[in-house]
Amino acid sequence: MTEATDKLRSVRDDVIQCTQCDLYKSRINPVVGSGNHNADILFIGEAPGEEEDKKALPFVGPAGHVLDKLLAYIGLKRDDVYICNTVKCRPPNNEDPTQEQKDECSSYLSRQIEAIKPKIIVCLGNHATKSVLELFGAIDKIEGISKIHGKLFSPDPIFQESSRRIGEDYMADVKIMPLYHPAAMLHNPPLAQVLRADFKKLKAAIGSSVTSSQVDAPK
Ligand code: URA
Repeated sequence: MTEATDKLRSVRDDVIQCTQCDLYKSRINPVVGSGNHNADILFIGEAPGEEEDKKALPFVGPAGHVLDKLLAYIGLKRDDVYICNTVKCRPPNNEDPTQEQKDECSSYLSRQIEAIKPKIIVCLGNHATKSVLELFGAIDKIEGISKIHGKLFSPDPIFQESSRRIGEDYMADVKIMPLYHPAAMLHNPPLAQVLRADFKKLKAAIGSSVTSSQVDAPK
């Protein structure tokens, strides 16, 4: 077992038993995350929806089908990446997670980041973007997703200093890219073009950060 797997199993065990907020009362299953434990790319969504709650897997409903297509568009498969959410239990009726729920869950997210040590963290939508930039102490960088999507945040002194929140041994040279949430395109089809363009930017960023064996030729 790799060190990452060991740490991720411990996160899973803690999430399964978690009662820190009320969401554990209404969900069917916690959705901890899935994919490659040693991935260079970590995708972070908002919170599980109905399908995810039933199957205990992230992004397996309509938004997940969009994400699968976008991954394939840049030559990636689910097994190449790790996928998780800001909040691990489904909010009833797919409501937006509250700040309190995100705060209660943030230690699990930071432990997942520490375990996987991704080179690029892709934040899908406003909630993930805010939570991740907060974790890295880059609060001044937080903007609405319509302004911030497709930008690549590289290490700077703020990241270096604040990376201690994530863990002393965590690499300070992580890059963070906020993107529109794939579900946004289901409600607003013209966003498909924006998402595809942003995934191309992600592919370009991956090119310089990721081992070539993880990236297939573009389809
Ligand atoms: N939307 C999310 O943000 N996460 C999921 O797992 C599914 C839908």
